[in-house]
Amino acid sequence: MRSVKVLVTHISEGEADEAIKKVKKVNEKSGPFDLIIVFSKSCDKITKLDTGSLPQLLLVSSDDKDNNSKAKETGENVTVLCNFGTYKLANGITISYLAHPSKVLQEQKDAILDKFSKMDSRVDVLITEEWGLPISERCGRLSGSEIIDELAKKLQARYHFAFSDEKNFYELEPFKWESNRLSRFLNIPNYRSGNKWAYAFNMPAGDSKDEEEVEPPNLIANPYQKVGKDSNKRPLESGTEDMIDYDSKSCGSENRNDNKKMRTILPSNCHFCFSNPNLEDHMIISIGKLVYLTTAKGPLSVPKGDMDMSGHCLIIPIEHIPRLGPSKSEELAESILAYESSLMKMNYVRFDMCTVVFEIQSDRSIHFHKQVVPIPKYLVLKFRAALDRQVHFNNEKFTRNAKLEFQCYDSHTSKEYLDVINNQSNNYLQFTVYETPESQPKIYLATFNVDETIDLQFGRRVLAFLLNLPRRVKWNSSTCLQNKQQESVETEKFLKAYKDYDVSLKEN
Ligand SMILES: [Zn+2]
Repeated sequence: MRSVKVLVTHISEGEADEAIKKVKKVNEKSGPFDLIIVFSKSCDKITKLDTGSLPQLLLVSSDDKDNNSKAKETGENVTVLCNFGTYKLANGITISYLAHPSKVLQEQKDAILDKFSKMDSRVDVLITEEWGLPISERCGRLSGSEIIDELAKKLQARYHFAFSDEKNFYELEPFKWESNRLSRFLNIPNYRSGNKWAYAFNMPAGDSKDEEEVEPPNLIANPYQKVGKDSNKRPLESGTEDMIDYDSKSCGSENRNDNKKMRTILPSNCHFCFSNPNLEDHMIISIGKLVYLTTAKGPLSVPKGDMDMSGHCLIIPIEHIPRLGPSKSEELAESILAYESSLMKMNYVRFDMCTVVFEIQSDRSIHFHKQVVPIPKYLVLKFRAALDRQVHFNNEKFTRNAKLEFQCYDSHTSKEYLDVINNQSNNYLQFTVYETPESQPKIYLATFNVDETIDLQFGRRVLAFLLNLPRRVKWNSSTCLQNKQQESVETEKFLKAYKDYDVSLKEN
């Protein structure tokens, strides 16, 4: 397969000299590249620098003195792409660019859309200063332009680079269009930001350009294709049949609508008991006196940012008990919280992530456990909305399920909260959201009656929606399941990261 090696970077005029020197070093060390794309608000200075040792250089820039969009060759290997247009390289790669900031975008909206509406094919790379609205929104940013949305949808670029956030590097998980084309979106900050300011990738060229790419494991729903409010095509609620995930292997609870009899699972058959000869011991991360920790089978989360593993794990009491409660030892509850706290610290300090813990406390459960999932910091503020949305579906659409109503508590030690959990007649679902190691977590708790049906996947459903991973709701789907070797690799990475936080090493 023929491919071209591309480097994309963002340089301001002030530091152009230094940055181009650095680009040359990167080209020597990680290259040589076939193509370097530089976004710069003004590129007059860069064109005067010595870039002779570099490969083909495309400078993308906005020029408000000149309404024309055009490609000018300013040196042997330098081409300036001004304002907006599409440029085709000799190797067949096509690049569309729209360098205007949002104010100019609005002023020239008609001319821009008119120009791109005449194009009849998709492109390989899209370079814009601004972001599209849905991705911006997803990131908790307040800007973004609908003109970029139009372009993104029309051009379906394999790579879309934006530059308006000058301080932060951002990479969205890949997503797919109806045409089956895969797209990736990135924001490249400025050279002086101190963050990752250059991005290198390989892109198929020539005849291999149209070969279909292998679907990556972290594929997300296409952010530009919002599903309408009354559509049946909701990716998360495609039907009721998967609402209740009843699987003895999952060691979940037993509340199936038409099977309310308790089934006895003996410790020798329990998925989470050490006395089970089939225990998946290659997934164990840590074993304490009363509690142990494993990576999750069919993890929900996927590698993200600094985190090179899913990070989804389970805290499990060694004793075969359905739930916690005042009759169980206080020491056990404390050990579980100590594990929870150590994981939350690791996620925050080592990976810059917040943490959500999900659990079901029910007399009908088989072997109690808590699920711990890292989430990017910017999603913490959206947790409540994601929860409310799933509560709405649970209560309105799936009327067989117990109606859920979540109360929010400000700490593990608030009196109102302790009153609820110390009442052994309460069965409940609980989420604990840890924002920082210093602040108290927010706890969301909904009680239900023991004879009511609950959606065992509710926790996973809320987090899959929050993380925009609709295809990862079910742990045993082909999207989520890993083979034994992948599970071992995942566990190895976790062990390495968790080493400095492991509470079992501090227990003695
Ligand atoms: Zn068990």
